Amino acid sequence: MLIAPDSPYLADASGFSGRADELFLPETEAEVAQLLAQANTAGVPVTISGAGSGVTGGRVPQGGWLISLEKLTKLEIHPGYGIFGAGVSLHQIHAAAAASKQLYAPDPTEWSAALGGTIATNASGSRSFRYGDTRRHVRALRVVLMSGEILDLRRGTKPPFEIPIVPAPGSTKNTAGYYLRPNIDYLDLFIGSEGTLGVVTEAEMDLLPAPADLFTGVVFFESDDVALSAVDAWRPVEGLRMLEYLDAASLDLLRPRDKSIPKAGRAAVLIEQEMGPAGDEEEAWIERLEASGALLEESWFATSARDRERFRAFRHSLPEVVNDLVRHRKLTKMGSDFAVPIPKNREMLAIYRETLDREMPGQYCIFGHIGDAHLHVNILPADEAQWTKAKDLMTEFAKQAVALGGTVSAEHGVGKRKRHLLPLQFSAAEIEAMRDVKRRLDPNCLLGQGTLFDPL
Ligand SMILES: Cc1cc2nc3c(=O)[nH]c(=O)nc-3n(C[C@H](O)[C@H](O)[C@H](O)COP(=O)(O)OP(=O)(O)OC[C@H]3O[C@@H](n4cnc5c(N)ncnc54)[C@H](O)[C@@H]3O)c2cc1C
Repeated sequence: MLIAPDSPYLADASGFSGRADELFLPETEAEVAQLLAQANTAGVPVTISGAGSGVTGGRVPQGGWLISLEKLTKLEIHPGYGIFGAGVSLHQIHAAAAASKQLYAPDPTEWSAALGGTIATNASGSRSFRYGDTRRHVRALRVVLMSGEILDLRRGTKPPFEIPIVPAPGSTKNTAGYYLRPNIDYLDLFIGSEGTLGVVTEAEMDLLPAPADLFTGVVFFESDDVALSAVDAWRPVEGLRMLEYLDAASLDLLRPRDKSIPKAGRAAVLIEQEMGPAGDEEEAWIERLEASGALLEESWFATSARDRERFRAFRHSLPEVVNDLVRHRKLTKMGSDFAVPIPKNREMLAIYRETLDREMPGQYCIFGHIGDAHLHVNILPADEAQWTKAKDLMTEFAKQAVALGGTVSAEHGVGKRKRHLLPLQFSAAEIEAMRDVKRRLDPNCLLGQGTLFDPL
């Protein structure tokens, strides 16, 4: 079907927009295969769309066909695993898993995301501190190549050609560039490839037994320094699955929405721990919290599933507020996705603060997955000139993160908006090795044009 220039399909959550000649909503895998083969023969570029919650422009086409997989909605729950169509949302997966007393572990917090999108970006998020990225939970994938060939790939199936190896960064998370590691399975190539190597139509994903109970809290601190010391002390706690951070500016952004944020709170750390059979975690936490110097009276602790959902919504509302603010200013998001090795967390944070307090004071906030030394810096420029300045600062931060052994993208991918960062992490030869893999699977380079690499 033809697509109106102001269609929501032509943008993503970052506010980045594009154009397409036609939009397709196939209802079966066979239709996807037919469309890709047709586009391949005609030389038409194809962009794949999930739910559009991405923040790097990956699903935003720059011409050609846009294929949304939203109608692939198979959903089967089994003991230990589920089989899901690419268009099934995380909302649906989490709900179906919970109804069977199981847990779908990957939690990139934005539950409108479609499974296919989360596989294509190798999404992670708040629970990755314990459970790692989406890749770790993939058992099998069905993928359609640009030629129309359909692949049915299980763990253990090796790629049909030799894979070049590129180095991994020292951060615990990374989704920049292709996953070219020794002894990978064929399906690993497609996970995190941002819709440039093949189209995921269906996936078999691990489901874990749901924990009996959780200890969850939003712990407030009078200063950043005390909060950071608590994070360092708590990282080794066994069973801790969430360690998330909000700085003072982040709390200030949320205050108009949530009057219960304590006035003295200048940093907050969200914790969530799975309770073991002994159930002695709560007492251990009381000791830990007292030793941490937290604002204990003012902190929040969950006593029900409703409280836990409130805390989740509280944390998630922050990127939403930031994204809305930036869109309201008719700009695109200016947020980082860099991660560094855990021992470098404080050093990287100090670099962010010193630079931004000097260059753009009062116009940024920092929050995110501090358990993995993966913080999102969001700069809030007032106009185009400041946006350009902020973009240059982000490029400098990317260089610093790489110099500290980290990555330019831990979970969002680089898409189109951040592809200029890839050469900061990888040499020209390494990027060429990635392009070789791309040519092997998509010889005409039509799939996801402009994502990861400059269009040829
Ligand atoms: C408020 C907010 C908070 C967020 N928090 C997190 C977070 O904590 N962690 C995190 O990882 N991300 C986070 N994100 C980013 C986003 O939710 C993830 O990147 C998500 O994985 C994107 O899924 P989607 O279905 O919306 O994909 P889209 O945005 O539609 O597409 C993303 C990429 O995947 C490709 N793609 C989509 N479907 C397929 C498919 N079936 N086959 C092949 N390629 C495909 C697209 O071409 C594109 O390159 C957040 C976003 C928002 C708005």
